[in-house]
Amino acid sequence: MSTVAAYAAPAAKAPLERTTIERRPVGESDILIDIKFAGICHSDIHQAREGWGEAIFPMVPGHEIAGVVTEVGAGVTKYTVGDRVGVGCFVDSCRECEYCRQGLEQYCVKGNTATYNALDKNGEPTYGGYSTHVVVDENYAVRIPDSLSLDVAAPLLCAGITTYSPLRHWNAGPGKKVAVLGMGGLGHMGVKIAHAMGAEVTVLSQSLRKREDGLKLGADHYYATSDPKTFEELAGTFDIILSTVSAPLDFAAYLSLLKTDGALVNVGAPEEPVSLNLFALLGGRKTLAGSMIGGIAETQEMLDFCAEHGFGAEIELIRADQINEAYERVLSSDVRYRFVIDTSTI
Ligand code: NAP
Ligand code: ZN
Ligand code: ZN
Repeated sequence: MSTVAAYAAPAAKAPLERTTIERRPVGESDILIDIKFAGICHSDIHQAREGWGEAIFPMVPGHEIAGVVTEVGAGVTKYTVGDRVGVGCFVDSCRECEYCRQGLEQYCVKGNTATYNALDKNGEPTYGGYSTHVVVDENYAVRIPDSLSLDVAAPLLCAGITTYSPLRHWNAGPGKKVAVLGMGGLGHMGVKIAHAMGAEVTVLSQSLRKREDGLKLGADHYYATSDPKTFEELAGTFDIILSTVSAPLDFAAYLSLLKTDGALVNVGAPEEPVSLNLFALLGGRKTLAGSMIGGIAETQEMLDFCAEHGFGAEIELIRADQINEAYERVLSSDVRYRFVIDTSTI
C-alpha cells in the first residue's frame, strides 16, 4: 500500500480539493503508473455532482490517464519500466463472459470495474486519474505510441475511443455523410476521427462560435442548430449522426436529418431522460442507437490509428488547482476542446 496525492470531491457537488489516497501494492499482474496527465471528461462532472445517481465519496475522478510505467509485478509480460501507457474508463472485468472474450469488456455481463466511483473485486473503492500514481492490472492498460505526446494522448482514452468505436461500428468512411452533434471533448475527436476515416463530416453545434476550429479539425461543413433553417436545409442528409451532447435533446428533430436507413448513434449521457415520438423512426427505417466507450483491443487500435494519422486531442493544459474552474467552463460549453491536468501540480 502506498499513499499518493490526489484531487478529490469530498462529497456530491462539493469543490474538488487536494488530498491523499492509498494505492494497492503492485500485485503479480499489476503495473505501477506514474501519471503525467489526466483529461477532464464531462462524465467526471456528472458523477462528482451525482447527476447519474448516488456515488461513492470521496471521489477521485479521471479516466483519461496517460503516464509512464515505474514498476511491474513479477508476472507482467506486456510492459516494462519506462513504457508509456494509458488507462481509460475501466480497470477490470470478469474476463470470462461472451463479451469479455470478444474484447468488448465495456459490455461485460457482470459489469466492468470503473476506473473510479466503483468498488473493485476486493470491495475497495477505485480512484481515478486526478492523482500522481495508479496501480492497474496490465491487461487493462494500453500502449501510447511514441509519436503521440502524453498530454494530447490522455483524452483519447475516453473521448477518442468513445467516438472511434461507433464510427467504426457504423462504417464511417468514404462516401458516408457523418454529422457530429456537439463540438466539445468527444465531438472534436469525432470530427478528427471521422475525417481521418474518409467520411464527409458536418458539425452540428449550438452556434457558429467554433466554426473555424471545426473546419480546421477536418469538418467539411458546419451548422448552428439554433438556426431553424439548418433543419430545413439538412433534412434527409446523413448516413450517421453521432450525438455527443451532454444534455437532453429533441431527438426527433435530429432523426429528420437522416437518410433512409440512417443511424443516429448517441454517446451523450444526459442526467435527464428524453421523450421521443417513435414515428420519427418509422418513415425511413431509421435507427436510434447507443454506444459506450470501447474495449481494450479497440482502444489500442484507436491509439495506433490516431498516431498513424498524426493527431491527438486539442487540449488546454491546466494545474490541479484549476479543476473546479475548468468544470464550470465545461458546463457552459466553454472548452477548447479538452482540459488536461498536469498531474505534477497536484
Ligand atoms: P463536453 O466537452 O461538455 O461536450 C458536450 C457538447 O455538447 C458541448 O460542447 C456542446 O457543444 C453540446 N451541448 C452541451 N449542452 C447542450 C445543450 N443543452 N444543447 C445542445 N448541445 C449542448 O462533454 P464531453 O466530455 O464531450 O461528453 C459529452 C457527453 O458524453 C457527456 O454526457 C458524457 O457524460 C458523455 N460520455 C459518454 C461516453 C460513452 O461511453 N457513451 C463516454 C464519455 C462521455 P456545442 O457547444 O458545439 O453546441
Ligand atoms: Zn469519459
Ligand atoms: Zn465479462
